[in-house]
Amino acid sequence: HAARADGVLIKYYDQAVAQRLTSRLHMAARIHSAIEQGQFELYFQPICRAGDGQPVMLEALLRWPQADGSWIMPGEFINLAEDTGQMIALGRWVIRAAARAQLALATAGWRDLSVAINVSAVQFFNDDLLGEFSRACEDVGIAPQALQVELTESSLMRDPERGLQTMQRLHDRGIKIALDDFGTGFSSMSYLQHLPLDALKIDRSFVADVETNPRNAAICRALLSLGHSLGLEVVAEGVETEGQRQWLQAHQCDQLQGYLLGRPASMGQTLAWLETFKAKA
Ligand code: C2E
Ligand code: MG
Ligand code: MG
Ligand code: MG
Repeated sequence: HAARADGVLIKYYDQAVAQRLTSRLHMAARIHSAIEQGQFELYFQPICRAGDGQPVMLEALLRWPQADGSWIMPGEFINLAEDTGQMIALGRWVIRAAARAQLALATAGWRDLSVAINVSAVQFFNDDLLGEFSRACEDVGIAPQALQVELTESSLMRDPERGLQTMQRLHDRGIKIALDDFGTGFSSMSYLQHLPLDALKIDRSFVADVETNPRNAAICRALLSLGHSLGLEVVAEGVETEGQRQWLQAHQCDQLQGYLLGRPASMGQTLAWLETFKAKA
């Protein structure tokens, strides 16, 4: 770096960098104690059959409640948890809490409703991921078939060969696997056909204005046809409007997820919401 005659700008810059570093360190320490003190929570968002809106799965989403009543969202702490070596511990808590949630669902009469768990790249490439899932299922007393792993296409592509092995092991144990944020990670058709996958989740960015944007419509059609030709369930993420729902239904999308069908909610709220489906049946 060239020294500057007026030190003022550089000094401001250094202060900004130092401040950012301090706040990241502070946040990392807070994540650590929140894990230790069990302060994280799971919310659940329904994934519903496109045909009749019946819920078929719940996706577990991390929430970090704050003392002032606000929430810190995963986008604000997952990367930091990964960078500071805390994602394995946090992920372990998520897997166990999700397994307990599935047991609560089964107890309430929703045995067939599986729970989808997001797994980040550091968890996915950690050698003990299968062990984490197996132990959680055994300890809680649920079948591995009641859980689904959601893995992003881009984490998988960090090491496709090792990724395939990990997926194979999870799949052999009976755990379902979905490729999340699909369409954003450039995996090839020839690679995908070798993966033990159950579902593709079309990224929200393509679903956003699918009924009015010809480019997004073309992408969704291609992803639906790709998924179906591989024998997979295709799920659309981020469905917010009736127009999107109708377009996706008309184009044989299997399952829908988004604010239109249901926002992420606590297990208590979710169980109450599920009751409305029992009443209809
Ligand atoms: P994701 O797995 O793609 O999850 C979907 C995200 O989209 C969630 O955001 C959800 O609240 C949001 N969403 C759902 N429907 C709609 C909609 O109709 N409109 C809009 N605008 N958004 C919608 P959230 O909960 O903030 O999570 C963001 C990301 O953080 C997740 O993306 C996932 O990658 C990650 N994440 C969340 N929970 C966990 C976790 O337990 N472990 C790991 N490793 N990652 C997690
Ligand atoms: Mg997901
Ligand atoms: Mg997603
Ligand atoms: Mg997404």
